[in-house]
Amino acid sequence: ILDLMSQTSGAVRDATTVSGLEDPVSPFSGGSSGASAGAGLLGPVDIQDLAGALGIRPTKTLGQNFVHDAGTLRRIVRRAGVLPGETVLEIGPGLGSLTLALLEAGARVIAVEIDPQLARALPVTVARRMPEAADGLRVVCADALSIDGPGALGLTPADAAPIRLVANLPYNVAVPVLLTLLAAVPSLEAATVMVQAEVADRLAAPPGSRTYGVPSVKVAWYAAARRTITVGRTVFWPVPNVDSALVELVRREPPAASVSRSQVFAVVDAAFAQRRKTLRRALAALAGGPDRAEAAILAAGIDPSERGEKLDVAAFASLAEALAAVDSPTTPDAQEIR
Ligand code: SAM
Repeated sequence: ILDLMSQTSGAVRDATTVSGLEDPVSPFSGGSSGASAGAGLLGPVDIQDLAGALGIRPTKTLGQNFVHDAGTLRRIVRRAGVLPGETVLEIGPGLGSLTLALLEAGARVIAVEIDPQLARALPVTVARRMPEAADGLRVVCADALSIDGPGALGLTPADAAPIRLVANLPYNVAVPVLLTLLAAVPSLEAATVMVQAEVADRLAAPPGSRTYGVPSVKVAWYAAARRTITVGRTVFWPVPNVDSALVELVRREPPAASVSRSQVFAVVDAAFAQRRKTLRRALAALAGGPDRAEAAILAAGIDPSERGEKLDVAAFASLAEALAAVDSPTTPDAQEIR
């Protein structure tokens, strides 16, 4: 991981050389807090100019669709309830559209970007458009999926203050990125993220609904999720072929369970691997046979002819506990094997 914050001058020099940029079209109108419409934020022309100057050709693989509408960006920041002085984590800052809106609201931003060229250019863009906020930006050039703890974000154990995730996530890895961060960064208390509309539906789906599945249950382990506003395609460049929506997450305690999170998640994966199967059949391999699966499901107080899509995360936790108990050496089956 290259922490560009500690090398800001180098990063600025590199990006300037790469781009040979003139000052962008509407530089931050100095001194004010950005009260005039669009001051400092990137509009459609700025986005095109920046991408052109940097030689960026947005790729689908990295989900590179950049927002160029100041109203949308400020709305996201407002919805997120960002407070001046608080630390916000942004995944995939891209050309800096949302980063500038977060800085404008007074946040300190840790921005994790996988594309080294974009990561190098970001401090330059911020220094030019919002110079008074430049000290509040830390850029980490890394794959968000590799974040394995607060240290990877440059946070020390002393940085115990809660942080918030606000991001327009790369759509193809949105769910694994969310799950990685919720697991790796305990101080991440809340999130407001833009994702593909279908993914937003899945993340916030309640048990029993058509879109309820593995992402819904796993995210529910960590947080309560709510789908909020829908965002049209025209605020992006390039225009994506999917709709977008915001999801708000608020961390909560996971269900009390005597088994680990990975044991619970293994049961979730097995239950949804074949959606149409009853729990008795879906969990047979995991339990060591359909009879053992049935015993565990009954012990958890669940109907074995039920399907996984009906269970909430607490029921999955009880099921994982019951399955672990069926496996334990104190059960008659296990004693026979001995
Ligand atoms: N935040 C910007 C905006 O709203 O205009 C860009 C959002 S764009 C949808 C997603 C960004 O995530 C791109 O800049 C892309 O390079 C970056 N990205 C893609 N995969 C990533 C990953 N695994 N880790 C970190 N950044 C990633």
